[in-house]
Amino acid sequence: MNKIRDFHRESIENREEFWRREAERIHWDAPFDRVLDDSRPPFARWFVGGRTNLCYNAVDRWLPLYADRPALVWVSTEVDQERVYTRRQLYDEVNAVAAMLRGLGVGRGDRVLLYMPMVPEAVFAMLACARLGAVHSVVFGGFASVNLAQRIDDAAPKVVMSADGGSRAGKVQAYKPLLDKALDLCARPPEAVVILDRGLAPFEPVAGRDLDYAQLRRKHAGQEVPITWVESSEPSYVLYTSGTTGRPKGVQRDTGGYAVALAASMEYVFGGKPGDTYFCTSDIGWVVGHSYIVYGPLIGGQTSILYEGTPVRPDAGILWRLAEKHRAQVMFSSPTAVRVLKKFDTAFMRERDLSSLERLFLAGEPLDEPTARWLSEGLGKPVIDNYWQTESGWPILSAQPGVEHTPARLGSPSFPTYGYDVRVVSETTGEDLPAGQKGVVAIVPPLPPGAMSTIWGDDRRFVQTYFTSIPGRQYYSTFDWGRVDEDGYWFILGRTDDVINVAGHRLGTREIEESISTHAGVAECAVVGVADELKGQVATAFVVLKQAAQAQDADAARALEGDIMRVVEQQLGAVARPARIRFVGALPKTRSGKVLRRAIVAVCEKRDPGDLTTIEDPTALEQIKESLQ
Ligand code: AMP
Repeated sequence: MNKIRDFHRESIENREEFWRREAERIHWDAPFDRVLDDSRPPFARWFVGGRTNLCYNAVDRWLPLYADRPALVWVSTEVDQERVYTRRQLYDEVNAVAAMLRGLGVGRGDRVLLYMPMVPEAVFAMLACARLGAVHSVVFGGFASVNLAQRIDDAAPKVVMSADGGSRAGKVQAYKPLLDKALDLCARPPEAVVILDRGLAPFEPVAGRDLDYAQLRRKHAGQEVPITWVESSEPSYVLYTSGTTGRPKGVQRDTGGYAVALAASMEYVFGGKPGDTYFCTSDIGWVVGHSYIVYGPLIGGQTSILYEGTPVRPDAGILWRLAEKHRAQVMFSSPTAVRVLKKFDTAFMRERDLSSLERLFLAGEPLDEPTARWLSEGLGKPVIDNYWQTESGWPILSAQPGVEHTPARLGSPSFPTYGYDVRVVSETTGEDLPAGQKGVVAIVPPLPPGAMSTIWGDDRRFVQTYFTSIPGRQYYSTFDWGRVDEDGYWFILGRTDDVINVAGHRLGTREIEESISTHAGVAECAVVGVADELKGQVATAFVVLKQAAQAQDADAARALEGDIMRVVEQQLGAVARPARIRFVGALPKTRSGKVLRRAIVAVCEKRDPGDLTTIEDPTALEQIKESLQ
């Protein structure tokens, strides 16, 4: 592990030299004067004065080499369609959309809000914005009108682009009525709305406002829109993310730093090369989708697969069939997707020819050991856990097979990536903690290229939110607990803002969940801290069984509850043992797979669960309620 350690050290100690070299990976229309300007900490500007463009680097730059090779493969098991776009065709489509946006008055620095399902037109629109020097803000299709209105008001887009609808698990979801409602709620509605009519959800266009994508595309087809070169620090996009307050934060990303960071990650983190095929199952509404469906693979000269569908339709083999068919070298998914698949036989993957596949990455939430083991054993390929956030834009902790092959340690996202001066610090003193001790995962500024540059329109909130919670230090807080073991492997132990305190003992819900998950009968679980008169809080576990029948009657449930409690007691001690274990058929989650802990806690405490617009399956919360009776 010497190589990876040296590589990381060099990226911190010789920061400017390191990134000057990496910057050669992308095309600059005009060179930068300075690698880094951090004269106003904690703000950092990378590649100051350099002029570049994300769309040029993702599309135009690869035309001479790969004009006729697939750049974007769209597969929808929702509408049973597949479309392959070569780099040349991608270029044409992006130019047509850029021309239509330009025709609607969109130019450098203007915002365009995209509220789109997983369709190639969404990718064209993102790249078209980049081409024009405009700033896109993609809002996840699962959000409803209030969230959408909040984001529209904050970003103040000139144009909103949307679709009649999407589809999930075979059920049509109409977007247009939600958008119309959002626009009614908006203080500053946009001048124009472009609607992609997929023929899924009939709607009435609003005269004078709504425009038809297909018509505009026909009108602008064949036009070429020159690249708008922007200064490296100019924003490429704003992506909203929720925090501890109800008001979403617009995470603002720069241009040059992002392009360089992604280009470097394609090699160092993902071990890929131009010409490879990359299959990321995330959604373009999330940061993983921005970085590793759209920009990363395309900037890296790779083919990207865009998938509209679930991992289990038409059956649990679909992801592997796609990887096989398109000869993917790299896959990127989420632990939740794998846990869903875990309920099925591994034959679904073993039967496929996955000889092209080199490795599979998982991120976005803790990867529990049993899930990691199930997947790596079933797949026979390295499974790499990587840890990052919307704010970071690319992995903070990960194995880096492009630097050095290192053995995986289950439950650990391995090591800090180059450029991230990441520490485990004491939440009371801010001091670095020695190996083995649990503390807050913090990053010493400057944040590396590609990480958020500020909160859209609110520099003060950026500093206030992220850089003031570590005592005595102006460090970036991830709001995650972490620990480094003696060998330098990192472990993420849950959010600092979801910590529970049982009779004065601080417990990480993640640790308890991991322990419960080792029980052979458990498919997945969530542990929350629930208010308790005597102990302040007690841990309550909600468990989804692999076979629901195991807890069919009260006696069986009680026996199993005792069983699981014993597992936790044996592994972590009596203090961590949940007060109650409830069996449910599903956990309430956002559509991106995050368990809605706060909503569970609220239900347990008989409070209003609050904003549930992102919930995947509302009946899951009902089941929690019922399980408490
Ligand atoms: P988001 O910004 O929605 O991607 O969420 C970021 C948060 O997800 C992090 O702060 C962590 O709490 C959690 N997270 C992401 N990746 C991992 C991982 N590999 N292991 C544990 N937690 C993770």
